[in-house]
Amino acid sequence: MKDLLRELPSVDEILKDNDIKKLFSIIKRENIIYAVRKAINFYRDLILKGDVIKFNNKDIINKAIKYISKEKQFKLRRVVNGTGIVIHTNLGRAPLPKNMSNKLIDVSTHYSTLEYDIEAGSRGSRYSHVEELLCILTGAEAALVVNNNAAAVLLALSTIAKGKEVIVSRGQLVEIGGSFRVPDVMSQSGAILKEVGTTNKTHDYDYINAINENTALILKVHTSNYKIIGFTYEVKLEKIVEIARKYNLPTMEDLGSGVLVDLTKYGLSYEPTVQSSIKSGIDIVTFSGDKLLGGPQAGIILGKRKYIEMMKKNPLTRALRVDKMCLSALEYILKIYRDDDPQKNVPVLAMLTLDKEELYKRAENLRNISGDIKNLDVKIAEIESMAGGGSLPGLAIPSYGIAITIRNMTANELEEKLRINEIPIITRIIQDKVIIDVRTLFDDDYIIIHDAIKNISEEVT
Ligand SMILES: *Cc1c(COP(=O)(O)O)cnc(C)c1O
Repeated sequence: MKDLLRELPSVDEILKDNDIKKLFSIIKRENIIYAVRKAINFYRDLILKGDVIKFNNKDIINKAIKYISKEKQFKLRRVVNGTGIVIHTNLGRAPLPKNMSNKLIDVSTHYSTLEYDIEAGSRGSRYSHVEELLCILTGAEAALVVNNNAAAVLLALSTIAKGKEVIVSRGQLVEIGGSFRVPDVMSQSGAILKEVGTTNKTHDYDYINAINENTALILKVHTSNYKIIGFTYEVKLEKIVEIARKYNLPTMEDLGSGVLVDLTKYGLSYEPTVQSSIKSGIDIVTFSGDKLLGGPQAGIILGKRKYIEMMKKNPLTRALRVDKMCLSALEYILKIYRDDDPQKNVPVLAMLTLDKEELYKRAENLRNISGDIKNLDVKIAEIESMAGGGSLPGLAIPSYGIAITIRNMTANELEEKLRINEIPIITRIIQDKVIIDVRTLFDDDYIIIHDAIKNISEEVT
């Protein structure tokens, strides 16, 4: 091993290679040195692990060139989502409507009205662009937008319940993928969690018995990513509001997903709408911008003016504030809800509500364009998609896709090759076959999939 380590070339030695030298006219010197050093370290690690017994400088040079071409690519870039999971948290949650791009570019590459009131000719509020829209759409008195829903919950709790008790049902102590946990956000905000009831049942009297002079708020958390079924009971929102009013306490609901349209209209399972929460008389509602709403990452806070004004004055609001890109995208999405057909124009809703015939047609199309590829077996597959993003738990939505196999290649190998494609194609493996669900594909994904499969299948001997 020591001998092998001694054989590792120096950076300078590699830089003298002709293939590397050629790159100096097109790539910055420090970037080439960085890649060469990374390649040498890669081989050093292999030697230390005992994984390599022989190598020459050419191996290291090739590795360095690979790193250099990879560095030219953006790390955050587009992928093809073949998983059928519509709100895929790892793949960027809600894709925004394509037509939005002109507005985003216009606002972000020029100066804008971000905090400027055109009519008054003086300073305006960045929240004004969406506040009225949010109120019109939901019936709320006032609105505020922050970085994400976790921030919205944190801000609301810290404003209203710092140092005081917040009553929550034990059945609603949610953890959302990643690191959002109700008890942790609660302690971060300085509020004291007062758990009531049991995991499966919480009654009116549980809330009533927990109220004391140190109570600041009753919180309901929508269990957006799980369902408790069987011997269960939870107090209806209207009833929680009624109890709280009797004791002069404010109420808040963390809705998680926040839908503005009744999903049962499209045959999906019932998800409480933001409007219905507001109608219950609740004081504060929070939800995400990039789950079922289908907009940019944001945390939307709606409710009674009194509480929203208190939150606007909290110094945390400045720390959690959204930028012009987010506000621009959110305004665009909300305008679709107000003026247009959201089912058609908000991609998340369009994908979730695609009907089976349309999905079948798209799967046929995907199968047919792959017809000329050798070594390939492709069949239409009847599968199930999911909403994802912790939305619509337990709901498997019937869908179609294609099942692909390439001669002499395992499903795992094929899945990997598609994944490391120049535009990565993310798939699922079901029963030893690579599956591409058409529900989450855009029109321009089809040709990318075709070309990738063709290239991969041509490598096979
Ligand atoms: C998703 C979710 C959150 C966190 O929202 P982000 O926008 O991801 O920060 C909080 N509460 C509930 C109930 C959720 O479903």
